[in-house]
Amino acid sequence: METTTASPQETEALAARLAVFLKPGDVVSVTGELGAGKTTFVRGAARALGVSGPVSSPTFTIGHRYEAPVPVAHLDLYRLAGIAPEEWGDLEPYFEGSIAFVEWPEHGGEWLPDARAVVSLGHVDESHRRVRIDSDLGL
Ligand code: ADP
Ligand code: MG
Repeated sequence: METTTASPQETEALAARLAVFLKPGDVVSVTGELGAGKTTFVRGAARALGVSGPVSSPTFTIGHRYEAPVPVAHLDLYRLAGIAPEEWGDLEPYFEGSIAFVEWPEHGGEWLPDARAVVSLGHVDESHRRVRIDSDLGL
């Protein structure tokens, strides 16, 4: 599906609609340029999955893992040039038993589990974003 959102709240609400279909072990790739709304999308999904605290971009670590009825992982691979085999051991725990959202998945190369859904965001103007969701889920 493809749509245009007119505010961060609309992007969060769209993410919440996707979230209801997700199960433990699912990975969602979230792509798009800086400021496209990737973290905003993840925030909306995380809220819908029961994460109550702030959801912000992982800055000093590669990821966050939030406790929720199903744990929610949020990774941002922007600063990675790739994943070396010995580094995968540090990343793998984020994915175990969780629903995982990955910003800049293209930096993860072949290591990442296959995505259940691929979300692509792009700027239209200051407040509008084009959002495309590719998945075999009901959205
Ligand atoms: P990214 O993670 O892709 O770098 P962020 O989600 O951190 O992007 O930032 C997106 C910025 O764009 C936020 O400041 C947000 O308020 C703003 N914004 C404006 N319109 C929208 C929209 N329709 N959807 C998502 N974010 C939007
Ligand atoms: Mg981000």
